[in-house]
Amino acid sequence: MSGIYIHIPFCKQACSYCDFHFSTKMTSKDQMIEALCMELKMRKDSFAQDQINSIYFGGGTPSVLSPIEIERLIEAVFSHYSITAVAEITLEANPDDLSEAYIKALSKTKVNRISVGIQSFHQSDLSFMNRAHNASQSKEALHWVKQYFDNYSIDLIYGVPMLGMSPEEQDLLWAENVKMALGFNPNHISAYALTMEPKTVLEHQIKSGKLPPLDESRAQAQFTTLRRLLTNAAYEHYEFSNFSRQGFYAVNNSGYWEGKSYMGIGPSAHSYDGKSRSWNAASNPIYIRAIFEGKRPFDIEYLSVSERYNEYIMTGLRASKGVELSKINALFGPEYESYAIREAQEKIAEGLLEIVNDTVLKITDSGLFFSDGIAAQLFYID
Ligand code: SF4
Repeated sequence: MSGIYIHIPFCKQACSYCDFHFSTKMTSKDQMIEALCMELKMRKDSFAQDQINSIYFGGGTPSVLSPIEIERLIEAVFSHYSITAVAEITLEANPDDLSEAYIKALSKTKVNRISVGIQSFHQSDLSFMNRAHNASQSKEALHWVKQYFDNYSIDLIYGVPMLGMSPEEQDLLWAENVKMALGFNPNHISAYALTMEPKTVLEHQIKSGKLPPLDESRAQAQFTTLRRLLTNAAYEHYEFSNFSRQGFYAVNNSGYWEGKSYMGIGPSAHSYDGKSRSWNAASNPIYIRAIFEGKRPFDIEYLSVSERYNEYIMTGLRASKGVELSKINALFGPEYESYAIREAQEKIAEGLLEIVNDTVLKITDSGLFFSDGIAAQLFYID
């Protein structure tokens, strides 16, 4: 099973922390849709033997497209690829686009899951991050999504500094955010720590001294609160940033974490076939021009065995089911299995990693917040 990711590279305004590829100029939207359909056709032989079980519209902001434009892209996928009857078709959407009329029209397309970029229910957080929507739109959008879709996910961001507030007050506001999300009873919640990415407005604000550096201890405390509130409410913490009711794991993201192949369509989109990773040019005009000339503008890297092992360790340890040692052996060879066990010993002694039933390497509850750093210590450096 494989997945198709379609990148919609437009946003109404730039969030201060964002380093994804997007443009706030929508003048090339029609050409972009045409180019995306052309790329889907151009690459149809790559997945000729595969069944597609996930189509994911990410961005950027896919909800800047009308339901008719989204349906046109879905039809292009269906006409060139073999899609399973139960395929998950997700659209990332921002609250300011989600009027009742829009959601109703969307519910008549093949989209069967919405990932709503709420990020916060507090206006101070939204203003801090320069989000295009306001706090009342966060609630209103979810009210309508709930009427028309059973399967939707709420995205939140924690660790957002609230200037002039004590750490305790900040943590209390975060807990309120999580409780408000729970009030909508979604089947899935994703929560990400605010990070300072290179070349973003947030980086500039921090480096120029306008804002203090992000406080990792706040992020850690809020991650702990998030996990406690959601697991108490019967959500399964199945991946570092993801919580789900039973049966509602995100198919698209689970595919990435399990190392399955996927094809990324659109500017900046990445593709992976198990051995190599390629990525399209992150420029709307360059992408459109090349596709209209019948060429896909991309770069490619072939992954060594060690690089694939490192990715497997990183994604596997972020997942609650952990890393199967026999799978490391089967995929990369016995020396990699021995290497992982050897390198894990220090973290096992510190209580941050464990080997369950001699078969599965997992992060412990105490190690959870440090998953990425712990995984990096098990990397194989050539
Ligand atoms: S809406 Fe999403 S993609 Fe667009 S700027 Fe904000 S975070 Fe980035």
